[in-house]
Amino acid sequence: MYEFTYTTQSARVVFGAGSMKLIQQEVETLGARRALVLCTPEQSAQAEIVSSLLGPSSAGVFDGAQMHVPIENARRAREHAKEVGADCAVAIGGGSTIGLGKAIALESSLPIIAIPTTYAGSEMTPIFGITENGVKKTGRDARVIPKTVLYDSELTIGLPLKLSIVSGLNAIAHAAEGLYAKDGNPIMSLMAEEGIRALASGLRKLKANSKDRTARSECLYGAWLCGMVLGNVGMALHHKLCHTLGGTFNLPHAETHAIVLPHALAYNSIVASDAMERIARALNVKSAPDGLYQLNEELEVPRGLGAIGLGEDDLDYACEVALSNPYWNPRPIEAEPLRALLQRAWEGARPAA
Ligand code: NAD
Repeated sequence: MYEFTYTTQSARVVFGAGSMKLIQQEVETLGARRALVLCTPEQSAQAEIVSSLLGPSSAGVFDGAQMHVPIENARRAREHAKEVGADCAVAIGGGSTIGLGKAIALESSLPIIAIPTTYAGSEMTPIFGITENGVKKTGRDARVIPKTVLYDSELTIGLPLKLSIVSGLNAIAHAAEGLYAKDGNPIMSLMAEEGIRALASGLRKLKANSKDRTARSECLYGAWLCGMVLGNVGMALHHKLCHTLGGTFNLPHAETHAIVLPHALAYNSIVASDAMERIARALNVKSAPDGLYQLNEELEVPRGLGAIGLGEDDLDYACEVALSNPYWNPRPIEAEPLRALLQRAWEGARPAA
């Protein structure tokens, strides 16, 4: 029997290769006149193109976006936006640049147009993160959701293959956990299944040819769907474990997600059969955890947590930290099976049957 609450979030999405060229029109549609373009120093060339496409509607480029949105940067960007009289901001880049746009929107209510160039999905979520004194604080606020998102797959052609793969697998993790979320709903489940299908298919094609334009479009479409899921429903064991491992042992975020996901799904599979069926269908395999493990192998993701720098003698502590902070999961989190999960993930073994 269906029973759910679903709040729609009203972002305008323009999807298509070359859609960046519509930027000036989209600024006008928002009712804005002067747009400040945000980017990282590495993407300033792309940002300059956006600025020139904006013509007289450009308030220039701010190329100070940084990983984890340091508060000093956010303050500088807000001040700069005021000084140049910007009445909207265009964030072109990955989660870090869009995160800077969100930090500006949080304090100033400046509308944000996002042009994502990775598969992180931040553009579709009300989640923001700001780092102050070395501590990253996250929160949810509807004000930070970009008003318009231009998905232009041409901008992802140059995203290095390795980064494309881990970014895409990270997005798959959002959708997979969204399928058994406490506050899940049938609309999000449709999006999650289709997002996993599109990304898995697109990433396989990219592995063969990273410049495959159809595959780039397919991956970006999947990233949009997975971002929607992340923005609308809560996450569980997998995300908690990855945050614990990333935060406590400084492991690389996206690789950690890719390695842990098959094992976290195996843990939950006995209580989340509908989610497992959907994931297996999306991957065209019999078993969801095994299918994702296989996908990691095909995409040559490092096999276990040991291969990305976690010591075997850290596993007990990792387990302790993960157990210390209770959180919702469809299956209760218990020490023994959790420790076994971590052992398999560390070794790079196949997920438990
Ligand atoms: P990123 O934005 O940190 O980008 C990494 C590097 O790749 C940067 O130098 C960037 O300029 C470059 N880059 C991005 N796109 C490129 C392209 N197409 N071609 C060449 N270089 C390109 O990476 P990310 O993975 O997109 O974002 C990670 C951050 O986003 C993390 O801090 C994470 O916490 C956050 N995030 C937030 C949410 C949310 O909902 N708030 C969701 C997902 C991720």
